[in-house]
Amino acid sequence: MRVRDVPEPDEPGPGEVLVRPAAVGICGSDFHFFEGRLSEHAGGSGFPRIQGHEVAATVESVGPGCREGLRPGQTVALFPLRACGRCYPCRIGRANVCVSFSLIGIHEDGGLQERLCIAEEQVFPVDVASPVVAALVEPVSIAVRAVHRGRVTEGERVVVLGAGPIGQALLLAAQDRGASVVVVDLLESRLELARSLGAETLLWTSADEVVARLGRERAPEVVIDATGVPAAVRAAVELVSSAGRVVQVGMSGDEVTFRLGSFTEKELDVLGVACCGSTEFGEAVDLVERNADRLAPLVSHEFDLAEAPDAVRFAMERPADVMKVVIRGDRT
Ligand SMILES: [Zn+2]
Ligand SMILES: [Zn+2]
Repeated sequence: MRVRDVPEPDEPGPGEVLVRPAAVGICGSDFHFFEGRLSEHAGGSGFPRIQGHEVAATVESVGPGCREGLRPGQTVALFPLRACGRCYPCRIGRANVCVSFSLIGIHEDGGLQERLCIAEEQVFPVDVASPVVAALVEPVSIAVRAVHRGRVTEGERVVVLGAGPIGQALLLAAQDRGASVVVVDLLESRLELARSLGAETLLWTSADEVVARLGRERAPEVVIDATGVPAAVRAAVELVSSAGRVVQVGMSGDEVTFRLGSFTEKELDVLGVACCGSTEFGEAVDLVERNADRLAPLVSHEFDLAEAPDAVRFAMERPADVMKVVIRGDRT
């Protein structure tokens, strides 16, 4: 990964907006892509590529024919996904798993550059003081999708496995729907943050221990895995209530073995999550605007754009010390 000069984008055409990325979050899927571990469908390894899909930006200029309300100087979050609009998932309103979807920073150049031209439908104004917080809209949107998929409702008990940025966002999204949340992680420092956000917490010692401890009380209606670790996913299936929902958010190429009877005996729903729809992205904007102060501590490290390769290496090599790394395009 290196920093180099690229041509300036053209003035925005009809329906396009020219933006200056101000803050770009780095996440696990960036590492998966960078290391060539994504499947062909998920983006494969289309190098060279300008990465960055968790983007907050400042509007520079608005092309002809864009909707009212977009104006230069505004802070916006970029909805990273474009879909074909014709395939089966698109036709049934699930364009987030379009068979030929395109994500900025993965299939096309993303936010780790000084300027970017993008379709107006992908531009969402965010009313927060800090672009660093606005960059959290994208990871929060995954959490919004997950609580929709898991049909989390008022009064339910939700267990979140993994207390990284997505786990913390899941906590906020589930609380926002009136659920009480238990967050489980290997790292006490991450649990501390979850506690400060109002979660009950449990330190992961072993799957058996976690299942025994949480199962002794009231079995959770929903378990959401944000780790992608096989032992955690198995625990999710064992832990969840009969007629409950297991929501898989953590990405992994690993294989997991289950006792099949768990699914039939408890009549479980197991639900995958990939990105989110544009309505959910709008809900994530709202959630971030209402929780800006609570979300700010999720950003543990900030780097300048010129240091982007160091920032990505730092985040990859020190997962235990890092919550969310954000690269600032607005500081040069
Ligand atoms: Zn991400
Ligand atoms: Zn499609």
